[in-house]
Amino acid sequence: MSFTLHGIGVSGGYAIGRAQLYSHARLEAPHYVLRKEHLPEEVARFEEAIGQVRADMQATREHIPEGAPAELAAFLDLHLMFLDDSMITEAPKRLIRETRCNAEWALAQQTEALISQFEAIEDDYLRERKHDVRQVADKILKALMGHPGHAPLKAADEPTVLVAHDLSPSDMVLFKRQSYAAFITDLGGGTSHTAILARSLNIPSVMALHNARALINEGDMLIIDGVNGVVIVAPDESILDEYRLRHNQWRIEQQKLKRLKSSPSTTLDGIEVELLANIDMPQDVREAIEEKAAGIGLFRSEFLFLNRPDLPSEDEQFEAYRHVAEAMKGKPVVIRTLDVGADKSLAWLPQTSVNPALGLRAIRLCLTEPQLFLAQLRALLRASHYGRVRILIPMLASLTELDQALALIEQAKASLREEGRLFDESIPVGGMIEVPAAALAAEWFAKKLDFLSIGTNDLIQYTLAIDRTDDTVAHLYDPLHPGVIQLIHHTLSVGRRLKKPVSVCGEMAGDPKLTRLLLGLGLRSFSMHPAHLLAVKQRILHTQVTEVAPQTSKLLKVGEPQRIQALLERLNS
Ligand code: PEP
Ligand code: MG
Repeated sequence: MSFTLHGIGVSGGYAIGRAQLYSHARLEAPHYVLRKEHLPEEVARFEEAIGQVRADMQATREHIPEGAPAELAAFLDLHLMFLDDSMITEAPKRLIRETRCNAEWALAQQTEALISQFEAIEDDYLRERKHDVRQVADKILKALMGHPGHAPLKAADEPTVLVAHDLSPSDMVLFKRQSYAAFITDLGGGTSHTAILARSLNIPSVMALHNARALINEGDMLIIDGVNGVVIVAPDESILDEYRLRHNQWRIEQQKLKRLKSSPSTTLDGIEVELLANIDMPQDVREAIEEKAAGIGLFRSEFLFLNRPDLPSEDEQFEAYRHVAEAMKGKPVVIRTLDVGADKSLAWLPQTSVNPALGLRAIRLCLTEPQLFLAQLRALLRASHYGRVRILIPMLASLTELDQALALIEQAKASLREEGRLFDESIPVGGMIEVPAAALAAEWFAKKLDFLSIGTNDLIQYTLAIDRTDDTVAHLYDPLHPGVIQLIHHTLSVGRRLKKPVSVCGEMAGDPKLTRLLLGLGLRSFSMHPAHLLAVKQRILHTQVTEVAPQTSKLLKVGEPQRIQALLERLNS
């Protein structure tokens, strides 16, 4: 029987495919049946992966960077111990032999079984060790997937749609390797980091569906309408035809936009607008260049720190930042310092806050771990010798934090000078305006900084007291709330008055429905996922700022949601 589910469309477009129900291990693990004669080889491949992971971990254990948290060594010892446990090393081999499955699948099955056993333990500490099991298994899985066996990574010919109750940002990073046609989840808000990563995959997705995982069966035919946030389960032929048509039209629209790639991004009245790209990993820079971004407006450096049990060293970070700086060939590259906590947690740093979004996150965390922060700052400064690097500090709330962060930047500079290393002495330092207090106090922040960047995702979350990852309040998440618009307007006015550049790097910047509003508010620098650059550019090319600005002034004086909506529609007509 056909039925329809409604959620939030977080990434546009349409997809038609068969449901694959998610379990964490299965997200990564391919499944195939082997010929009997290949089984010894498969077991050997598994043993080799274990050996490789053990060697890697031992090497990491022996070269723990100075200043790394003390827990790191204990953490690695525990993982090495797991690696010697027959539940991890022997049981999957038995499964390979008995069920003739590939090593990845055997490991995934055994991991799920082990995790269930851990979950049944009453002792809190021991129960939490399930995360360690997962991390060790993940490492082996990665080693295996670096050396695939007899079957391709993904066997299905038919497009598949991943159906999950929830996905974390770390899952999404791994997800980049797979080729799903779409994904849908029960939980999650439209600007959660999971949703942001979903957009970066450029495939349709719908979140906050509440019961999709329970209602959909493995192999069900699904239509995913990422534009309207709709999922149709077991559609009939006429609906399938209708969506095939929509999908084709959508693809044609995307093709047409490509023609705008080389046009300058200038309004009808000749105002130049800077269009920058947001990236998560160094390799994403390719897409930014491909879409002709004017620079990188936000490099979320924390993704270098996810999905691993250890810290990236200063040198490893330096290489990553240098890669982006050089690739952008003199165009600006804004690298945000580590913004972990809340929905992005690190393996070696257990989440202890009762309310993580309001807890030890971003700059707050970095100031409590100065050695970690200094290593990142040194890496950023060293990379500044190879391009136009700028440092961006996330989640500033108090000026004391800013002073402390600036002092640490000075300390990092001094240590490099002492070593005779080259860096940009006048590297610009900016701050993210994403806490309402910082927006209201933008003037004082701007005076100490070279530029500001408005993180509307968090600014909305904190202004409206709505957890951006919570699907139950996702309908209240409102970029058009007058409180939010006033804060953006105020920050932009301060920037203009003090002659400090201000950009917007939250998801609002990449939404073409909001382009004119932001232009009217005075924004001249937008940073967004590269996939959205052309749609926003198209809007800019068709906008006359002198016409839009007075309409926006009117909108600023209105509080009623319906009136704001009506004025926005007029602005966009
Ligand atoms: C924001 O908050 O708007 C932002 C760009 O940062 P992030 O989404 O990574 O929190
Ligand atoms: Mg943010």
